[in-house]
Amino acid sequence: MPTEVNVATPGCKNPAGYIEEVLAQVKAKNPAEPEFHQAVQEVLESLRPVLDKHPEFRSARILERMVEPERVIMFRVPWFDDHGNMQINRGFRIQMNSAIGPYKGGLRFHPSVNLGILKFLAFEQVFKNSLTTLPMGGGKGGSDFDPKGKSDNEVMRFCQSFMTELQRHIGPDTDVPAGDIGVGGREIGFLFGQYKRIRNEFTGVLTGKGLNWGGSLIRPEATGYGCVYYAQEMLKTRKETLEGKVCLVSGSGNVAQYTVEKLLDLGAKPVTVSDSNGVIYDPDGIDREKLAFIMELKNVTRGRISEYAKHYKKAIFVPTDVQMDHNPLWAMKGDCAFPSATQNEINAKDAENLIKNGCKLVAEGANMPSTLPATKLFLENKLLYGPAKAANCGGVATSGLEMAQNSQRMAWTREEVDQKLHSIMVEVHRNCFETAAAYGAPGNLVSGANIAGFLKVATSMMDQGLV
Ligand code: NAP
Repeated sequence: MPTEVNVATPGCKNPAGYIEEVLAQVKAKNPAEPEFHQAVQEVLESLRPVLDKHPEFRSARILERMVEPERVIMFRVPWFDDHGNMQINRGFRIQMNSAIGPYKGGLRFHPSVNLGILKFLAFEQVFKNSLTTLPMGGGKGGSDFDPKGKSDNEVMRFCQSFMTELQRHIGPDTDVPAGDIGVGGREIGFLFGQYKRIRNEFTGVLTGKGLNWGGSLIRPEATGYGCVYYAQEMLKTRKETLEGKVCLVSGSGNVAQYTVEKLLDLGAKPVTVSDSNGVIYDPDGIDREKLAFIMELKNVTRGRISEYAKHYKKAIFVPTDVQMDHNPLWAMKGDCAFPSATQNEINAKDAENLIKNGCKLVAEGANMPSTLPATKLFLENKLLYGPAKAANCGGVATSGLEMAQNSQRMAWTREEVDQKLHSIMVEVHRNCFETAAAYGAPGNLVSGANIAGFLKVATSMMDQGLV
């Protein structure tokens, strides 16, 4: 008989300090993974009121279970470059939580990719997917391979080698990857082709596929469009719209491009885009013709965003410098901010700059683009702040719609998918808004998203026994 059984919350020695204890364990067991620590801390700190209301989650040690991936796969990816040299990269798939459906989450190809970054992304994905209303568990994967500067043939050989191993671990009812940074339509095509050759099956094993071979209309647009739909809902709570709002958008990839497109549809004025070399500020606004130029530059010729300022003379290009204490993009004047590049791209100084310049809304298209101190400043200053796991869940939600179409062997129209995406974003906002109020944090969509996402997964895990 153990001596320290706590009768109210058996299995938990120190109920009052449970969250701190789990956080300390996460840091000790996963050293050198600061992004994972940050993502876990943000979620766990929101869950205090839930644990007070539901001590059974503490007894069941649900937090310790949720921070431990169900499975981590790490593998060698050897490939030949165009000069006949052997190249070796590292591949990963984190299968984080399958309580509410098959693992689902993107693949990222970027030199910065490591275990900790993918664990943070997989952890976030669990709560995000839960919010979408669709039955999807959470996962994430990728490689430290850098597609920049590689030929199409090199990218194909890499993707084929990557899938040669990954195919053992995924499947339409097990784990369905999608794109993320560095993985767009081209890469998904190469990955799908190799899966099909090895497994001899045509299934919806990846989302973001081409339209002729099982892809869904609106999937490429979905993260950006969804983020803007979410921003619309946030503004409605203050009886405002996007019409005429000056918007700062970062990045110039998939999410940024379709954020700009939807902002234009709704009468807003996007004035910035960026890439890892610098920022474009266009005082006249980025209109549809300029957006078409960006899409051609980034998706076809694969050039640098500085080209924009050579083409449109009134625009300026400001190089970014990682040594600087702030990002010049967030020091520009704007009513709304749509970070759509990468994690931790808004630090406390950037948040101060945004607030000082009158920014009223931040909707996160990228995953965890704001540091914890930046998030705190947004909440303290009562900005409309839409955290990533809610604001950018339109992408994975539409991947869920692609899976549904693949299972039915049907293809829905553009209008049908867009309408479903829009309804999902309205529902996700409503859920976050009402959950925040119900748990004593009215208007705090960080708490609302974390709590609503958590409850569905945690109760499912409880139903399924010790999983
Ligand atoms: P993408 O098409 O590859 O574009 C990424 C953009 O961000 C590029 O402009 C890139 O510039 C810039 N960027 C990447 N790493 C950077 C860094 N370390 N510093 C500065 N700029 C950087 O990727 P994406 O799909 O748009 O993804 C953007 C963000 O949205 C990521 O956080 C991703 O996790 C998140 N997200 C994506 C989806 C989706 O459906 N695609 C869904 C949910 C969330 P360079 O070209 O110079 O690298």
